[in-house]
Amino acid sequence: MLSTMQDVPLTISRILQHGSTIHGDSRITTWTGGEPHRTTFRATGQRAAQLAHALHDGLGIRRDDRVATLMWNNSRHVEAYFAVPGMGAVLHTLNLRLPAEQLTWIINHAADRVVLVDHTLLPLLAPLLPRLETVEHLVVVGDDPGDALPADCRPRVHDYEELLAGRPTTYDWPELDERTAAAMCYTSGTTGEPKGVVYSHRSVYLHSMQVNMAESMGLTDKDTTLPVVPMFHVNAWGLPHAVFMTGINLLLPDRFLQPGPLAEMIERERPTHAAAVPTIWQGLLTELDARPRDISCLATVTIGGSACPPALMEAFEQRHGVLVRQAWGMTETSPLGSVAHPPAGLTAEQEWPYRVTQGRFPAGVEARLAAPGGGFAPWDGRSPGELEVRGPWIAAAYFGGADAEPLRPEDKFSPDGWLRTGDVGVISPDGYLTLTDRAKDVIKSGGEWISSVELENVLMAHESVAEAAVIAVPDDKWGERPLAAVAFRDGPVPYGALCAFLGENVARWQLPERWATVESLPKTSVGKFDKKVLRARYAAGELD
Ligand code: ADP
Repeated sequence: MLSTMQDVPLTISRILQHGSTIHGDSRITTWTGGEPHRTTFRATGQRAAQLAHALHDGLGIRRDDRVATLMWNNSRHVEAYFAVPGMGAVLHTLNLRLPAEQLTWIINHAADRVVLVDHTLLPLLAPLLPRLETVEHLVVVGDDPGDALPADCRPRVHDYEELLAGRPTTYDWPELDERTAAAMCYTSGTTGEPKGVVYSHRSVYLHSMQVNMAESMGLTDKDTTLPVVPMFHVNAWGLPHAVFMTGINLLLPDRFLQPGPLAEMIERERPTHAAAVPTIWQGLLTELDARPRDISCLATVTIGGSACPPALMEAFEQRHGVLVRQAWGMTETSPLGSVAHPPAGLTAEQEWPYRVTQGRFPAGVEARLAAPGGGFAPWDGRSPGELEVRGPWIAAAYFGGADAEPLRPEDKFSPDGWLRTGDVGVISPDGYLTLTDRAKDVIKSGGEWISSVELENVLMAHESVAEAAVIAVPDDKWGERPLAAVAFRDGPVPYGALCAFLGENVARWQLPERWATVESLPKTSVGKFDKKVLRARYAAGELD
């Protein structure tokens, strides 16, 4: 028997309509380096309508057409976040830090018809133009392109403001099937070609509700959130959509992601929450040590994207009174997969062991651990396995390309449809996930596994260590052994002293014999330590 309830599609235009009316006065502030640009959710809703008209009537964009953005975190990007899916097209956020080859491949693979591009990013896009096969229109946001584009530019070039000017400020948003594609984001392609994840209206809607739950970020219209995580990295962890549901004010850093400007914008604009990968917070901490600023406005920061060193959490809490909340997720999980809220009824000291885990799964995410020998590992906090997840905001396949079937590679999806995350860890009886590694980063030494994350966490607690990453390197006797690459804060510290420091916390047989000092660690396009580059440098004999 079917229910008697209304069947209202969960669409992104509904989120926009709600946010721009009920929370019309909520603010979006974009950092510009000078006087910040300020607007409201109401005005953003009107401009999103104008953009939808411009794309439809001006550029001939229709349902399912891909509209790409090559943009920083700013209010114009938020307009695109709502206008493009709202009208039934698909928003494709481009990772502006990818190498030119990959960016070109991705734009062609997605068959983007339009690229909205911040004028500061034109120098990055211009060299790709001759090889872009499907792009018909470039819409430049901000200043005049000047001579950043070739005179004979093949896609037609438009000015964003001119394109919107005079268009109606309301739009008759179509009633879409909630399973329709809304947005797409490519993973950064650590192995082979990048893979496209296509989010639906339904998945974005449900994920946004989860982001807003108290057991996730739990913010309200009294808050201001600062997503430092780029809007091209898994929809800035869902924040631009989520804020329109609850009226949370947005502070957007545009391209000013360096520690200095971040510290200044926090002090001046007083966000209560912020979200970014650990390397950003590490940088901010060092900046604040050198040039103190008042960041007491920040009640909580959400850290995810890679393991958050407990030393970093402690430093923010003790030195700045900022509570760090760790979360785990992936491009394929929208990204919210788990958040480290401790259970009720504990003292701060008792909460700590829970807070340093990757967290608990929300109701929308089911999890299991595929055991190394087959079957599934028990949730006993000891038995490791590869994490597999499923749920309404988790990918079931990758985009196969225009008119092609979706891809379901066996190493990424189990036969019964669960996502194989490639992350290895344990789950406690009460459902807390502790990741020890990515499957490809695990160090297999003499039949035992060494957790690179554990070694890194301890190393980064050493007062002289700024950054540390541990990789597996081939070893005649043991198969693999750990190599620790360390960037020091000031002067170097003897490796023996670091080993002794490590030895206080990890078993002796796990201590690295091989060490390398680096100026800074290589980072991926989304700011994580890039172990692939480290391994290549080791193989080339450059790490000694
Ligand atoms: P990429 O694969 O390019 O890094 P993603 O952002 O999708 O892009 O990365 C997802 C991966 O990041 C996860 O599979 C996991 O390995 C890692 N990750 C994310 N959050 C955490 C966390 N809190 N702790 C440890 N690893 C994390």
